[in-house]
Amino acid sequence: MKDVLIVGLGPAGISAAIYLKRSGVDPLLIGKDLGNLELFPLPIENYYGFPEPIHSKTLVQNGIAQAQHLGIEIKKEAVIEIAEKDSIFYVKTAQNEYLAKTVILASGKKLKSFSVPGFNKFKGKGISFCATCDGFFYRRKKIAIIGHSAYMKNELAYLSQLNQDITIFTNGETLDETFPFLIVKEKITKFLGDQKLTGIKTSDGQIYSIDGAFVAVDSPGSLEFAQQIGIIVEKGNVVVDKKYQTNIPGLFAIGDIIGGKLQIAKAVYDGMMVADDIKRYLKNKNK
Ligand SMILES: Cc1cc2nc3c(=O)[nH]c(=O)nc-3n(C[C@H](O)[C@H](O)[C@H](O)COP(=O)(O)OP(=O)(O)OC[C@H]3O[C@@H](n4cnc5c(N)ncnc54)[C@H](O)[C@@H]3O)c2cc1C
Repeated sequence: MKDVLIVGLGPAGISAAIYLKRSGVDPLLIGKDLGNLELFPLPIENYYGFPEPIHSKTLVQNGIAQAQHLGIEIKKEAVIEIAEKDSIFYVKTAQNEYLAKTVILASGKKLKSFSVPGFNKFKGKGISFCATCDGFFYRRKKIAIIGHSAYMKNELAYLSQLNQDITIFTNGETLDETFPFLIVKEKITKFLGDQKLTGIKTSDGQIYSIDGAFVAVDSPGSLEFAQQIGIIVEKGNVVVDKKYQTNIPGLFAIGDIIGGKLQIAKAVYDGMMVADDIKRYLKNKNK
């Protein structure tokens, strides 16, 4: 079991890992990619110590190289579920399951959203982001699950215990497995309904009538993790106390995910500060 597992390879996660490692704690870092600085490459001009603008991807790659140089263990995997039982965290990726005494969420802000007419209107009114939270309300109903990755399969495994009438919408992506459910590969063009979601329209003009849709696109972001494990979120930010701890003891959050200034300098600062808090937390726990 790891003392500390960090989700996120952006500036917040890397900074926390560096400070922890240098204070004698061995963290495990897991991330699916290098975060916003890789996804939206641009020259960074406002970070300390670079006379010329530094390319954002280079900056974050340098952070990874620094962590590797210090001997920090890094896994390039997408986390699909976080659960907690008896003060132990179970962090599931597409490939593995890890156990940890503490978890730091440094998973950034998910900028990619599902921008199709009706999506925002029916969020929470038929469109759900968490099978374990809402699956029960839709048991024995006609449901859709949207996605194609390991995250979708994980959510489907749960939903298929409650429902037989499931349609998988891959939204133009390819599935690498077969399932005993109707699979629709066309892109979703509209979510339909009046007060509640009642249907999904696809690019070939077909309309599928459904009672509820579960979104499991790509991999979970902060809000999906929060729903899975019951973290308090306000105005789209994970709520933490002064020690960066969420409402779940042992689960910390830093960087863009907790709001405030969405800047590299602030993410790096959070990483530095949480390292001290985690050290204290582990010391008290091991007493
Ligand atoms: C277009 C744009 C321009 C910007 N320009 C600047 C600038 O000039 N100066 C500046 O200071 N800041 C800038 N920022 C903000 C800066 O990018 C962020 O503040 C900073 O990257 C936040 O760091 P973070 O570590 O919290 O999150 P991120 O850098 O977003 O990293 C999040 C990490 O979490 C991982 N992750 C997420 N979900 C999962 C999952 N399910 N499983 C595994 N891993 C997961 C990601 O792969 C990534 O490794 C800009 C942002 C954008 C979008």
